[in-house]
Amino acid sequence: MRKILVVGAGQSGLQLALGLQSHGYEVTLMSNRTADEIRSGRVMSTQCMFHTALQHERDLQLNFWESQAPKIEGLGVSVAAPGSHDPGPTQRAIDWLGRLDGYAQSVDQRVKMAGWMETFAQRGGQLVIHGAAVSDLDYFSRTYDLVLVSAGKGELVQMFARDPERSPYSEPQRALAVSYVHGLGPRPEHPDTEAVRCNLVPGVGELFIMPTLTTSGRADILFWEGIPGGPLDVFNGVKDPAEHLSLTLELMEKFTPWEYARATKVELTDAGGTLAGRYAPTVRTPIGRLPGGGLVLGVADVVVANDPITGQGSNSASKCAASYLASILERGEKEFDEEWMRAAFDRYWDTAQHVTKWTNAMLAPPPEHILNLIGAAGQLQPVADRFANGFNDPGDFENFFYEPAKTEAYLAEVVAGA
Ligand SMILES: Cc1cc2nc3c(=O)[nH]c(=O)nc-3n(C[C@H](O)[C@H](O)[C@H](O)COP(=O)(O)OP(=O)(O)OC[C@H]3O[C@@H](n4cnc5c(N)ncnc54)[C@H](O)[C@@H]3O)c2cc1C
Repeated sequence: MRKILVVGAGQSGLQLALGLQSHGYEVTLMSNRTADEIRSGRVMSTQCMFHTALQHERDLQLNFWESQAPKIEGLGVSVAAPGSHDPGPTQRAIDWLGRLDGYAQSVDQRVKMAGWMETFAQRGGQLVIHGAAVSDLDYFSRTYDLVLVSAGKGELVQMFARDPERSPYSEPQRALAVSYVHGLGPRPEHPDTEAVRCNLVPGVGELFIMPTLTTSGRADILFWEGIPGGPLDVFNGVKDPAEHLSLTLELMEKFTPWEYARATKVELTDAGGTLAGRYAPTVRTPIGRLPGGGLVLGVADVVVANDPITGQGSNSASKCAASYLASILERGEKEFDEEWMRAAFDRYWDTAQHVTKWTNAMLAPPPEHILNLIGAAGQLQPVADRFANGFNDPGDFENFFYEPAKTEAYLAEVVAGA
């Protein structure tokens, strides 16, 4: 039986460990926290996952929370009108809702990772609670057929060199501030449709709001992404969760009053329901070389970490885990050598490159043709729907998003068919 070590028990590591386990591999999973520590700890993400990524979980019968988690059927965009963040006017220049072909869901990673970790152990997997260091990997690479590093954006990424050609940004592009709340009202425009709402405040940042299933049941997430140094970049050093929430609400009142209107009665889900931070989006070379000469393969965020502005990291982690699982199964009994590792990553990069390209584009101020496209979606429902479904399949943006001529041609085609 082939022996595989998975280091890091997040979306990708657990999905891979459980997937390999179900195919009869002898899997050891190393996590720096126990399931209980994860469950009772701080939130880590907003983890909204779209159809394709959720389907990978269903394929492995890991969709344990599907019936309880809100079914997100729409994705809406609102753009604050110029000057609307000066005290006074509250109008939006743009406001629409696109319909998703397959629903999206967010299950708090505290719930999911803790539950999956327990399942892995119950099914006979070897779970080691230990924060792995490079020296540990050096030792283990000699006793395992394959070592997969799925430790997210933690310190182990240092083993994987940054790929400057695929990493246009060397600094964080947004300051992140998340609050999980109970008591948020529905959007009055679509009270019966669960949706991710993307609120763009030009020159300032973005506010994302989405429903989730958390440790205390259904909740909503308020997630500010602020341009560094701007008016939203004020969460650094705020330790008190209540202060974090009141800052979040103050900023909503000022910059997105239409969202604040439904947030006046919210309260935090729990003391761990807030998160603040920032990181530079980075693509890395996929193979880590250990001091003793062994090789390890990086997984998901370790090798491709995008800014959460497009809500893709967990989706990508699921897609990476599914792609690596297929590569491992296809390898059979042959050695997991450097060539195989590179090929496994390249296969994942076929999908991931689109996520990186789109996410990095969304971090920059939008050019005119994209403003036109987002504006047109307000009048043309098929455009809103296609944009929304791009969150599931970012490769589709190649067809109508980046090049002005393609955007124009697409809009003309929709108008002609309307
Ligand atoms: C604010 C925010 C909002 C987000 N919103 C979304 C969203 O809406 N949709 C979406 O798809 N993505 C979103 N993401 C991104 C998403 O959460 C991540 O990309 C995804 O969780 C990455 O999965 P992963 O398996 O690579 O790593 P992680 O989920 O980070 O898991 C890595 C695990 O490894 C553990 N670990 C670290 N170091 C070690 C070590 N040395 N030894 C052992 N264990 C270790 C960590 O504790 C962690 O449990 C968001 C991220 C942030 C920060």
